[in-house]
Parts: sequence; C-alpha cells; structure tokens
Amino acid sequence: MVFHAFLIKYAEIAIKGKNRYLFEDALVKQMKIALSTVEGEFAVRKESGRVYVFCPEEYDFDEAVEALQRVFGIVGICPVVIYEDQGYEQLGQDVMSYMKNRYPEFRQSFKVYTRRAKKTYPIESMEVSAHLGSLILDAYPEASVDVHNPEITLSVEIRDKIYVYSETIKGPGGMPIGTNGRAMLLLSGGIDSPVAGYMIAKRGVKIDAVYFHAPPYTSERAKQKVVDLAKLVARYSGPIRLYVVNFTDIQLYIYDQCPHDELTIIMRRYMMRIAEQLANERDCLGLITGESIGQVASQTLQSLAATNDVCSLPVYRPVIGFDKQEIVEIAKKIDTFETSIQPFEDCCTIFVAKHPVTKPNRKAIRRSEEKLSGKINELVAEAINTVEVLEIR
Ligand code: ATP
Ligand code: MG
Repeated sequence: MVFHAFLIKYAEIAIKGKNRYLFEDALVKQMKIALSTVEGEFAVRKESGRVYVFCPEEYDFDEAVEALQRVFGIVGICPVVIYEDQGYEQLGQDVMSYMKNRYPEFRQSFKVYTRRAKKTYPIESMEVSAHLGSLILDAYPEASVDVHNPEITLSVEIRDKIYVYSETIKGPGGMPIGTNGRAMLLLSGGIDSPVAGYMIAKRGVKIDAVYFHAPPYTSERAKQKVVDLAKLVARYSGPIRLYVVNFTDIQLYIYDQCPHDELTIIMRRYMMRIAEQLANERDCLGLITGESIGQVASQTLQSLAATNDVCSLPVYRPVIGFDKQEIVEIAKKIDTFETSIQPFEDCCTIFVAKHPVTKPNRKAIRRSEEKLSGKINELVAEAINTVEVLEIR
C-alpha cells in the first residue's frame, strides 16, 4: 500500500499558548533533519494546526517511519492515503478501496471519524461517517460498529483533498530538541553516558559533548569509539558538537603531584572544570554525566559530592538511580550498547589506583589539589586552547 503522507501527533499538553509555535517549529526542524538521511523527497509542513510529512515521490516506508520514531516530541505517526476530492460518490469508493487494500479481511469493531476541515463541503461530518460506516458494514459482514471503544478508528479528513488513515505508529515521546536550551554531555566510551545524553535530549535539550582523550595512553581507536557513540546519539539529538580535549599532560601532572588513591577523583574534578568552561563558551545551561550512585568507587555519594564541588552549573545525572541492567536496556533500545562494549581502554582506567578512596573528604582533596598550583592553570588553558572540535551528524 502506498502512503502519501504522515500525520504527526504530538502531546498537546506542552503547547499551550505561544509555546505552540516554538514547539511546532522545533518539531518541524528536527523532522527535516531526521528525514534528510532517508532516500526520497519529503515535505514537512504545518497545516491548519497539524504537522504533516508529504511524500510525493517513491520512498522507503520503513526507513521513513524509523527516522520519525527518533524525533522527540512525536507521540504518534499516522500513515495517510490521500485521494482527490471528486464528489461524495467517489469518496465512498475511495474509502472502500482503502479498506480493501489495508484490511483484506476485517472483522474488528470500528468507528468512522470524519473531520471537515473544508467547511464548504456540502455534507456534514456525522452524515459522512454514518454513510461510510454502512458501506463498511455491507462489505465486511463480521465487522461491527463501536463508537466508544473501537479496535480501529478510520479517520477521514476532508480538506482540499481527502485524507484517510486508521493507524497510529508509536513515536518516541518527549519534547522536540531545541525547546529546552542546551547542555554539555561528558561522553566517555562507556555504556552510561550515551544513555544519559539520550535521556536529557529527550526532554528537548540540545546537546554538545566533550570527551577527554589521553594519547598515547588511550588509542585513536578509543576516540573513534566515542565518535561512533556520538553519531548514534545524534540520530536522536540531532547534530552534536563534540569537543575532544587532550587530557594527557593534566593526568600526568596529577599523577606526579597527588596521592595515587585520590587520582580518579581529582581527575574527575578537572574534567568537570574543563567541561564547565567549554559549556559556558557555548551557552550551555548544565552538564550531563552518566553517573549512577554506587556503580564504581568514583560514584559513591562522597565521590559525587567531591566531583560536584567544582561546578557551578547544574549537573544532570539522569541515570543516577538506575541499576546497570536498567541502563543496559536503554542502551540496547537506542543501539549504543554494542559500540559501548567494544574493549577499548578509556583514560580513567589507565591511571586508576589499586585502592582508590571511596569516601573522599572534600577538604583533603582540595588540599591535595593545592600541590598542583604550580602548573595546573597553564595546563588547563592549554587543553582548552588545543581542543579539537568535531561536528557529528
Ligand atoms: P560510562 O559507562 O558512561 O563510561 P562509567 O561507569 O565508566 O560511565 P566513570 O568512568 O566513573 O563511569 O565516569 C562517570 C561519568 O564521567 C561518565 O558517565 C561520563 O559522563 C564521565 N566521563 C568519564 N570518563 C570520561 C571521559 N574520558 N570523557 C568524557 N567524560 C567522561
Ligand atoms: Mg567510563
């Protein structure tokens, strides 16, 4: 069956008053970005309070649906068949040909819902519905009408043309990217941070990302893995600007100057500081990490407090209360899992102490960091000045 368009359903609740335009415009923009990867021409348009994708040419239906299923803000995708308006008689024939094509056998309960967007249409909606309902009952003796709880709702919209649809494919929900500001994701090669980025993006937040790279201790392949993960997240979040910070000299300096059991925590504090500086340059309103309480030594409440200590921007940790398995399930759903489990070292694993502190004392950590005062500002400035910027799409 050839569908000529998709009617896009979105949650009405978010779009009271003037927010409606912002919401719809952001939605349309993200839909265009998502569909640009699908073969074929698509026209995304707002029309009388609705959003449609028109598909004038041949296209791959499954690919188009998959692309739309990654656009946050969409709750439902209805494939529509469009007929010319050639009179009432023909309307009945067209609707029956839709039914015959779509449901060669039909024994469900149904209702017909007619919406007359073109008010000059000579016959009232209720009458059209009743007429079409009786044609369907005649053609399918085992079908039945149920206006309150139908299994199938056949929608007929009378506009300049006739739009017919009866199916809603589930969308991802959430809010369109760009309706809720911007935040900076600390993206490592692990399982958790891509999921964290996805979750915050789902709320309409545009994301940038930063990766701390420590060559030659971390390989080009480890960096490529992060680029690959960013690409997978970008399928949902839209284009991501990825900052690759060379962290080697900072790590070595910390390794030289500070107690080894505090290395991880001090390193993480410098990651947060640098991420925050980059975030401020990009007008990001928060940082995002994949931290989850108790997962590793650097994620006890004490460690999280010590890491948080250096940031003034809010830090969003959407998986904070999740078990690993729950995070893995989302990673599988969004297709990042297989990439995340590729075995490439990340910079934290190389410098970890045998027995890292699990209950760092913030005062002690601050004292240890004083040992870095000689060179650290210079190294941080150098890391920021030499940052590599990749536009991921
Ligand atoms: P993940 O699975 O996300 O790598 P993890 O369980 O390995 O997390 P940590 O290594 O303690 O946990 O990192 C906690 C968080 O810190 C990560 O989720 C990520 O947001 C950030 N992070 C860690 N290492 C890096 C890095 N090299 N570059 C950027 N961010 C990082
Ligand atoms: Mg990690």
